[in-house]
Amino acid sequence: MPRQTRARIDLNALRGNFRLARELAPGTHSMAVVKADGYGHGLEAVAQALTQETDCLAVATLEEAQRIRQVGLSPEVVLLEGVHEPSDWRLVVEGRFQPVLHSLHQLEGVDCVPGNGAVPVWVKCNTGMNRLGLDAEGVETMVLRIRETPGLEVAGLMTHYACADDTADAMTGEQARRMRAISREFPGLPVSAANSAAHFHGNESHFDWTRPGIMLYGGTPLIGRRGPDLDLRPVMKLESRVIAVRTLAPGETVGYGATWTAEQPTRMGIVEIGYGDGYPRHAPNGTPVAVDGCRCELIGRVSMDMIAVSLEACPQAGVGSSVELWGETVSVDEVAQLSGTISYELLTAVSPRVPRLHE
Ligand code: PLP
Repeated sequence: MPRQTRARIDLNALRGNFRLARELAPGTHSMAVVKADGYGHGLEAVAQALTQETDCLAVATLEEAQRIRQVGLSPEVVLLEGVHEPSDWRLVVEGRFQPVLHSLHQLEGVDCVPGNGAVPVWVKCNTGMNRLGLDAEGVETMVLRIRETPGLEVAGLMTHYACADDTADAMTGEQARRMRAISREFPGLPVSAANSAAHFHGNESHFDWTRPGIMLYGGTPLIGRRGPDLDLRPVMKLESRVIAVRTLAPGETVGYGATWTAEQPTRMGIVEIGYGDGYPRHAPNGTPVAVDGCRCELIGRVSMDMIAVSLEACPQAGVGSSVELWGETVSVDEVAQLSGTISYELLTAVSPRVPRLHE
């Protein structure tokens, strides 16, 4: 029997979350962010499902953009990382991608692009993230250079919020104010700013094109909250099964480092999933793990291929019992919070060893 560890991907929930994003930002257009293999859910299937809802997707890399074309899909594809080498422009033209440019040096090589309709490019504006992007003066130069370059046209202006995960943080409003000031100089150019978190702020932070990512996959974009609190449906159910059961006597320990000791006789199950599958090694004792639908507790350190779970809350469980690491009964945000990380990291870290079953 093959290993029963797998990630079930609910594409209806994905589409439902996209519709919720649309409702939260009325009057805007939306590019669905599917980078990092669709946040770990499988790029091709996610792209296929979301193109039933929107005709614009956003990815980080050229390779991701090409994968969307290789399965015959034809939405607009925005390349959030832009181009790195002059030779990338040929691939941009071939794939009809829309790169985001943050620096004049990225225009090198554009003159050798065969003309076949103008390539729309976005201009990245720095409004406070201080990662990629141009200040107001640099934006002006970039827009002029693009407008002078045969074969290119300006699709719009883009910025990214640094602190939108905290709805009380004043920085989002300040970044939106700076973005509005920059865009006033370019009447008619659309602006893209809102990540998932900004959907939960006022509409003054939404602008023309939103870029929802994590919320599409059911993870919370807001600190201290969980996806279901925000009416987001979990998309990935990470599941496995119990492969062995033993009863520990008081004083016996479990696993590497002997980090958990039984205080009373404890029935425990060994589950065939570990950090080699992307389950977080830092998940602490007590992290919820659903066995046959009951919330049980992780005990001991996470190994590469196995974890141990107390079955005390689920007396009927035995070898073969089904296990949910996250999904409906246990939220991925709950596991992330307990492990000192965010659902983005857990979802994108599910390893290639785990088959994705799209349903
Ligand atoms: N836009 C850009 C430029 C990003 O880098 C990301 C993700 O990191 C997103 C949008 C989507 O963000 P989120 O997943 O928080 O919605």
